[in-house]
Amino acid sequence: MPKKTIRDIDLSNKRVLVRVDFNVPLDEKDGQMVITDATRIQETLPTLQALIAAGAKVILCSHLGRPKGQRDPKQSLAPVAPALSELLGVPVEFSEETTGPVALAKAMALPAGGVLLLENTRFHAGEEKNDPELAKGLAELAEVFVNDAFGSAHRAHSSTAGVADYLPAVSGLLMEKELTYLHDELENPERPFVVILGGAKVNDKIEVINRLLEKADTIIIGGGMAYTFRKLVQGITIGKSLYKPEWEPIAQAAIDKAKARGVNLLIPVDAMITDAFDFDAKKLGNTKYTGVNESIPDGWEGVDIGPESVKLFAAEIAKAKTVIWNGPMGVFEIQESSKGSFDVAAAIAENTSAKTIIGGGDSVKAVKKAKLADKMTFISTGGGASLELLEGKVLPGVACLQEK
Ligand code: AMP
Repeated sequence: MPKKTIRDIDLSNKRVLVRVDFNVPLDEKDGQMVITDATRIQETLPTLQALIAAGAKVILCSHLGRPKGQRDPKQSLAPVAPALSELLGVPVEFSEETTGPVALAKAMALPAGGVLLLENTRFHAGEEKNDPELAKGLAELAEVFVNDAFGSAHRAHSSTAGVADYLPAVSGLLMEKELTYLHDELENPERPFVVILGGAKVNDKIEVINRLLEKADTIIIGGGMAYTFRKLVQGITIGKSLYKPEWEPIAQAAIDKAKARGVNLLIPVDAMITDAFDFDAKKLGNTKYTGVNESIPDGWEGVDIGPESVKLFAAEIAKAKTVIWNGPMGVFEIQESSKGSFDVAAAIAENTSAKTIIGGGDSVKAVKKAKLADKMTFISTGGGASLELLEGKVLPGVACLQEK
């Protein structure tokens, strides 16, 4: 599966179309759209700097927001050009057209090491339909395609996959890192390999559980989906905690598979419970911790793992040589029920002899909120894409790249 990267081909003086993820949050201030978090731009800098150093003519494309195939000034990539220019320390030209004569003229005029940013690919209705006309229009601008937009790689769109039908395609350095840590490293992980999975719904995570049950020594289950497991394994009642009857057979199959394969399946033994939960207002009612293996009373629901669960999980995390974490242990967005997720993040950070991988989405938010991001070996930039990769799915934006 190793894919060619920008290090494997000659890019000097070549026009290189780079699909990046510049889907940055924007806010309107005094009639101007301003970038409120430039993390995604920063993540692409190693690739862009390497391309500039190699003497490539860099043409950048990305989607931003959901403009539904129409031009929308509030979802324009224009504000990204000056922000990127400042970060890179070189001028960044902007093309108000994504494809066509204006974009082509600007691309052709680029000097070696020059940078051009194209307007939002989703201003074209064809983008999300993987329209070959749009893909051809993008391909016409360049001689090589580089995909560095891991967060969009699970989508077969014109700019993420279709364009590779018309140009030699290789991966960027961010994409390479994501594939290394979320795929290659997990094929033959250094053991013990501990997988921590949380989040809300059993059915959303079951593919990942199933796949990683084939690789892991220990799987730790937390978050909203843990209550179905606790009901089955501990025989407790779970009040009004997250639960659906149809999740029971799914969870049972995972329990059986773990047993058959000798995988240590760890579930929480206690919980923080509340009698009222308003997610939008970020408010809980009364809260308390249950005892070990204690049922959750009617009218109460579990919103976080308790201290005994943290101890149990942390002991296992401390022994690991490889750790991957996807999905929070509780409702970490509310301060009172964030402790379990933050404690697990701290336990991962403390194991400095392990490779520690934070596999996307809300666990990334939790690690950043806990200010532990710099203590981890790798933090994924993908949400849906990382989940699909962990599920063992083929991502269209990766499949289209040349093999090494
Ligand atoms: P996911 O997108 O499946 O990884 O789920 C993440 C979401 O699950 C976060 O918004 C958490 O607040 C939520 N979550 C975690 N634990 C619970 C719980 N015990 N009850 C309700 N929601 C939870």
